[in-house]
Formats: sequence, structure tokens, C-alpha cells
Amino acid sequence: MHLCTYELDGRTQLGLVHGSGIVNLSRALGDALSAHQPMIDLIAQWDRLKDRVAALLDAPADTTLDAVRLLAPVPRPGKALAIGLNYLDHVQESIIGESRTVPAHQVWFPKLASAINGPFDPIVLPRVSGMTDYEGELVAIIGQRCRHVPRERASEVVFGYCVGNDVSVRDYQKRTSQWTLGKSFDTHAPFGPWLTTADEVGDPHALELSCWVNGERRQHTHTRLMIHNIWDQIAQLTEVMTLEPGDVIFTGTCSGVGAAFDPPRFLKEGDTVRVEIERLGAIVARCVAEG
Ligand code: ZN
Repeated sequence: MHLCTYELDGRTQLGLVHGSGIVNLSRALGDALSAHQPMIDLIAQWDRLKDRVAALLDAPADTTLDAVRLLAPVPRPGKALAIGLNYLDHVQESIIGESRTVPAHQVWFPKLASAINGPFDPIVLPRVSGMTDYEGELVAIIGQRCRHVPRERASEVVFGYCVGNDVSVRDYQKRTSQWTLGKSFDTHAPFGPWLTTADEVGDPHALELSCWVNGERRQHTHTRLMIHNIWDQIAQLTEVMTLEPGDVIFTGTCSGVGAAFDPPRFLKEGDTVRVEIERLGAIVARCVAEG
């Protein structure tokens, strides 16, 4: 199933996407979902609600995709984390510190919740930097509270998948040894266009991913090429922390980022960035200057 969060008359609504139509789940499920965080509520109660949602696949649409503004499927997750240097070709094009070798440990950083952005909303180029870059990535959404998850069971805690862009401000990223500031500018964590449930995706390590800037394909990979796959990522993270319904994981990018060109090709005002993943759809953002 494809689940979306959208805005209608200034209110956040949950939707079931079917073709170009949307069934309003906030209305259909009524009191089961809070108005505040309906997607997290739906994920947390999925075992109890999924049959009611599935039955709505045949219901008439309440609206259409082109009539609403889609928000990030989880607009305010408890946390969003991202792994760096997780495709070999991206490691080899990157100079982080002094080396181009695969790090001994998984490299994790937060993308703060205030950076989360809708799948078709503009990316704001900050006035303090001319080095804003794109990173097309597969995004995993956690389905249940979990801790110390063995990799063999990690698929059980994933609710679904989205398309993401780990937008990165390279000078802010590289001037310190950890990357939080460079990865958490406002609008720099777009994902969507909707949340595709894990059962519908099948193997998340069997997906083609592409990223285009102004129609030119800059990144092209396959998720089987991750150095640390999603199960290893969840095993590592849950050694440290409890993951909760709606938590967001950006799973890494491949080669072709703007910083790796000579000269670099950073995002400019008016550029359009499109990230597409097989079976999950596409997100598209226009780049605008900070006002
Ligand atoms: Zn990234």
C-alpha cells in the first residue's frame, strides 16, 4: 500500500494513494488517529488497523494527488538518522578527512527534524554557503519500538520505504569532524512521495535508484551495492538506541554528487532535482535562494 500525508484546508490529513486518487484515511479511521501525528499513530497501530485500510483500496477517492500538497510522509519523526559513505563508488569520490578508504565502522549522523521537507517542496539554498549538494537515497521507516535487533530479524521492524534526498552543505559538513550542521539546514531532508509498505516493496536491496539535476542523470545505482545493508544498519543503531514507529533512516548515497565533479557542480537557484527509486516513485524539488 501507498500511504501519504497531505495538507488540505490547512490541516494535515493521512491518505491512501490508489492510482492518481487519494482516500482520506483521517476521515475514514476517525478517532484512531490523532490530528497531531496521524502517520506515526497509524504505523504504531498497524496490526489492528491494516485490514480496515486495505478494505479502502476499493473506496472512491476523496481527492487526487495533483489537487493537494503532499508533505513528508512522517512530517515530524521522533528521529531521522543517516549513514555516510555507504556505497564504495561514493567513498572513492569523497575526500572526508584525508582518506578515500571504507571506514572501519558505520558512520552515522542525525538529520534534525526541522530539516524535513515535503517531496515536492523547494530546497532552500542557504545564504551562508554556495556549496549545497544532492544525495539521492533510499529511506526506511521504522514500524515498531525495538532495541538490540539482530540483523536476521531486522526486516521485521521496518514498516516501509520512501525516496529521499540527503541534501548536504559541503563546507559546513567538512569543516568539523562530525557533520550535523552541514546535514541539517532547513528543507534539507525531503522524502516521499508516499510511504510504500514493506510487503509491497519486497527486497529493499533490489531497487534501482537515480538522481537527475535539470534532466541530467548524475547518480545511478542499485541498492544491492550498499556496503552496510539496511539490516546491518538497524542492528548497529539498536545497539545504541530504541528505534520507534515513524523513525526515519537515510541509507546512503552513491557516486555522482556535485562535490565530486571537477570543477564541483553544486546546486544553483532554479535547478530542479529529481530522485527516483524503482517501485517507490519520485520526489522533485526546485532550488530557491534563501529569502
Ligand atoms: Zn547521505
